[in-house]
Amino acid sequence: MASQDQVRDFLAHWFQLGKPVVLAEGRGECLPDPIFQNGRYSQAFEDCWHRIMVTSGQDCYLKGTSQSIATMLSPAWDVTPCARCEMPIVIPTAGTMTELCPCNDLTTWPNTEAPMPRTAVDNQQHLTDLRQRLRAV
Ligand SMILES: [Zn+2]
Repeated sequence: MASQDQVRDFLAHWFQLGKPVVLAEGRGECLPDPIFQNGRYSQAFEDCWHRIMVTSGQDCYLKGTSQSIATMLSPAWDVTPCARCEMPIVIPTAGTMTELCPCNDLTTWPNTEAPMPRTAVDNQQHLTDLRQRLRAV
């Protein structure tokens, strides 16, 4: 299952490509700016996360996807890199993926000339993950 950290990381990546979260109860969309501050999530990001968590992620979803944040946090779903663009996507832990990656409707993505969205939080952990991924190849 996707942890809150994974879902926050997922959102941070897509926010960097300008994808907002649609909030529950017609509370509009949320696209924090800046996303990071001093190597951590910004206050704007935390405020946005808080607005999502008001309904525990129920009926809140990344624009262009149909799984709510609440669904992503349930045991049946996991976060994994997209095969096409390496951005994090949510997939069912059992069964097959029927949804397209949100990159599907970004005409400018994948864009090999733009820097990849990054994770600002816990660089050490990020490096460790990278090293493990490289070792696994
Ligand atoms: Zn993709």
